[in-house]
Amino acid sequence: MAATVERIAMASKRDYYEVLGVARNASEEEIKRAYRELAKRYHPDRNPGDEEAAQKFKEITEAYEVLCDPEKRARYDRYGFAGLDESLAPAGTYGASSEAFDPFFDLLSDFFGFGGRRAQRGPRPGRDLEVVLDVDLREAFTGTTRTLEFERLELCGECGGAGIPRGYRPETCPRCRGHGEIYLRQGLLTVRTQCRSCQGRGFRITQVCPRCQGRGKVQARRTIEVRIPPGVETGHRLHLAGEGEAGDPGAPRGDLYCVLRVKEHPFFRRQGRDLFCQVPISFTQAALGADVDIPTLDDKTVTLHIPRGTQSHEVLRLPGYGMPHVRSQERGDLLVQVIVEVPKKLTRRQEELLRELAELEQKDVSPQRRSFLEMLKSWLGGESQSGQSASANS
Ligand SMILES: [Zn+2]
Ligand SMILES: [Zn+2]
Repeated sequence: MAATVERIAMASKRDYYEVLGVARNASEEEIKRAYRELAKRYHPDRNPGDEEAAQKFKEITEAYEVLCDPEKRARYDRYGFAGLDESLAPAGTYGASSEAFDPFFDLLSDFFGFGGRRAQRGPRPGRDLEVVLDVDLREAFTGTTRTLEFERLELCGECGGAGIPRGYRPETCPRCRGHGEIYLRQGLLTVRTQCRSCQGRGFRITQVCPRCQGRGKVQARRTIEVRIPPGVETGHRLHLAGEGEAGDPGAPRGDLYCVLRVKEHPFFRRQGRDLFCQVPISFTQAALGADVDIPTLDDKTVTLHIPRGTQSHEVLRLPGYGMPHVRSQERGDLLVQVIVEVPKKLTRRQEELLRELAELEQKDVSPQRRSFLEMLKSWLGGESQSGQSASANS
């Protein structure tokens, strides 16, 4: 009954070659490479909580288990999924579970020196991790230290990464007596073939570490202090060697990369190493000159001298008050664009004074207007034109 259900479920399965995206005549190396690429992308540790990725990982692992095994592959090529029925219900508990498949076997072969097809591969180093760190412009300006909390894979403390209970030794496969291969007599010839009971491993595992379920590693929280130097920009990566995931026993840990994202500031805008801001000033400050205090990102102020006759939207420079460079710590400039504000409301006295000024201006053309008229005259061949502004000049 159960076998029938299994077969029906399998009928809707995708072709193993299609799953791994390889040709039907792909070499063992090509299959391995394709699997490694896909496994990296869909690994459950990399896609926590993602059901679809987990399903995908299961699918590719199953496809790989069949295609990397010459015997199973030959049967699959010939009979399709039906040819694999026997091997999908393996002897012992070491089955086709995708979870246990990869890390488990590698660890065991490394630990106990068991033979087997994949034993020559050494212990794998831990994976690198990447975290995004948001800082504001002020922190990027002064530099800061941040406490970072994240999850990473650690070697299981219970089994030390072996994936099996303490003190447990896997049983030698009774069929091949630990050789992983058996000899079959066919007429005059003796054919050597992989042992089906243990899939060539030579041992059987009937117990897994209760804490890590045979994976050898467990997720754990890690808290570290990260020093962010002054001058960082969005996209900068801080490299923290050895703070990535744990490798197999004996292999190095991965690294941690902090990718920085600097938030926008309401007042200052970054222009490379310079900082830019806009400051409103009054008409009188612009005309007569003034000293105004400009706030800086480190909660200080710097005095900006506005020279007499400064025009609206003119940009004044304060050298050395910009962002520090992340390596040299040399600082850029602060660029202040002054915006002359026209008062919306006037007191009676202010209005009196402005009207007086307006009268004066009618009689006496301001320097900029004169130069504008001169420019106009030169364009028109030096002849003065009749009109309001020309008559004001005569
Ligand atoms: Zn364990
Ligand atoms: Zn065996």
